[in-house]
Amino acid sequence: MREFWEKASLPEVEPLRTESGSLPPKGERPKDLHQSRKEPSVFFHGVIHDHLFSGDRGHFDKTLKRDGTMISSCSLCDRFADASNPLIVFKSQKVALYHMPGIDLPGYLVISPFRHVEDAGVLEDSEREEMARLQSRAVQTILGLPGVRKVYILSFGEAVPHLHLHLFPRTDAMLAGPGCLSDGIPDGPKIFDFWRKRLAGPDIPDTVQSLIPRLREIFR
Ligand SMILES: [Zn+2]
Repeated sequence: MREFWEKASLPEVEPLRTESGSLPPKGERPKDLHQSRKEPSVFFHGVIHDHLFSGDRGHFDKTLKRDGTMISSCSLCDRFADASNPLIVFKSQKVALYHMPGIDLPGYLVISPFRHVEDAGVLEDSEREEMARLQSRAVQTILGLPGVRKVYILSFGEAVPHLHLHLFPRTDAMLAGPGCLSDGIPDGPKIFDFWRKRLAGPDIPDTVQSLIPRLREIFR
């Protein structure tokens, strides 16, 4: 595998800079950006941002307020801490299933562990089992919604570095979108990208609002 990457002819790209502005030595992976954040602190709107290590790869950004208390700056941790969050469909002991906000696509669900970890490689056995079980049930449920032909499962962790899996319902009607077929075959990445943008809407569209109680019944 390593040989493949060494031999592969990749285009020259601007090397990533660390936060201190220095460049990593040639041929070396840029230092983990989180490592360069050990030094507090950047003042921002009256609070001090202090990026802490959790000791493993499950990195967790926290914000130290002036009164000395810590608040999380992870939108998913915040969502799970809010017992009345309207998007939550189901909570097992260690994993949550919630509806994706901001997109008018009922049945677009997300699975995420409560614990702030960045990737599936650091999940505990119990988290892994709960995620797999919930994923299977959720896919089965989404496939039962009208018009849904497939469920795309994706995980990026770029904008929100708290592990979460998108369960994206691909409907038959989506194939009519521009560029959504390549050589007559549905082009998954294009379909996902095009329809996420096309269906962008209020945080909780009416269609989603009315589906969530039904989903809660199913997962009860
Ligand atoms: Zn988090």
